[in-house]
Amino acid sequence: MTITNSKVWFVGAGPGDPELLTIKGQALIAKADAILFAGSLVSEAAMRWAKEDCEIQDSKGMDLEAITDWLIEKSESNSNGKSKIVVRLQTGDPGLYGALIEMVQPLDAQGVDVGVVPGVSSAMASAAAGVQSLTLPEVTQTVILTRTEGRTPMPDSESLQELAQHHCTLCIFLSITLLKKVQSELLAAGWHEDSPILVVHKASWPNEEKIINGTISTIREKCKAEKINNQAMIIASPTIGARQWPELKKSKLYDKEFSHRFRKAKKKQEAPS
Ligand code: SAH
Repeated sequence: MTITNSKVWFVGAGPGDPELLTIKGQALIAKADAILFAGSLVSEAAMRWAKEDCEIQDSKGMDLEAITDWLIEKSESNSNGKSKIVVRLQTGDPGLYGALIEMVQPLDAQGVDVGVVPGVSSAMASAAAGVQSLTLPEVTQTVILTRTEGRTPMPDSESLQELAQHHCTLCIFLSITLLKKVQSELLAAGWHEDSPILVVHKASWPNEEKIINGTISTIREKCKAEKINNQAMIIASPTIGARQWPELKKSKLYDKEFSHRFRKAKKKQEAPS
């Protein structure tokens, strides 16, 4: 193989809405000589910026070896030694449940230069769809991104029940068909049957997004009624529904009595006597 400045970019395509692709991701798509996209999840609309002569391939039906062979082959320069830009377009952020390292290792072994462009994860897009904050002062300041065990086993110390004992925000990927298990693990961790839970199907997809608000005890039936059995994010969090709370603990950031680098606190007003 001739050494060139060719590079394979793993680009986060975002959760579905092409407008949630980053500007950097868009620029790379526009420059790419070849794009391999994850057909089942990445909207083809993301390809609207590709060059006319860009080679575009759906990776649906390709195994890991076929994918990495394709990326390596397309990054090889042609006879005039011109370097290539190859894009592997991934759903959400490439570093979350995206087999990133499995694909990078064979490229490293061939000496192919690699770059990663982060993307808007479906966890963030789902919270945004429901107008929810994943953190709230004095409620929870922690977010756990996790999944329940499917074909990929969970490490021993990461059962949902154990993680749920923190009573922080849980964004649960890849688990919509395992809602019964999610329910029972949250209840076993001390969550209440009426704790609110949010499911978002196809977050950000134009005209296809569905938002299901329920509780631990109702969410399964509600999802069944809406026939949601794929591409859905489950968010269990003590912050869900805060938009309707009459009382909120406010963050210090905008507190008028709190100084920070860009703003001086106003003097505390004397209480009227
Ligand atoms: N890298 C991706 C996750 C890939 S794993 C990311 O950062 O979002 C696939 C899982 O992600 C799905 O099972 C589902 O739980 C979630 N997911 C992906 N796209 C989604 C979307 N638009 N809306 C809701 N959940 C989505």
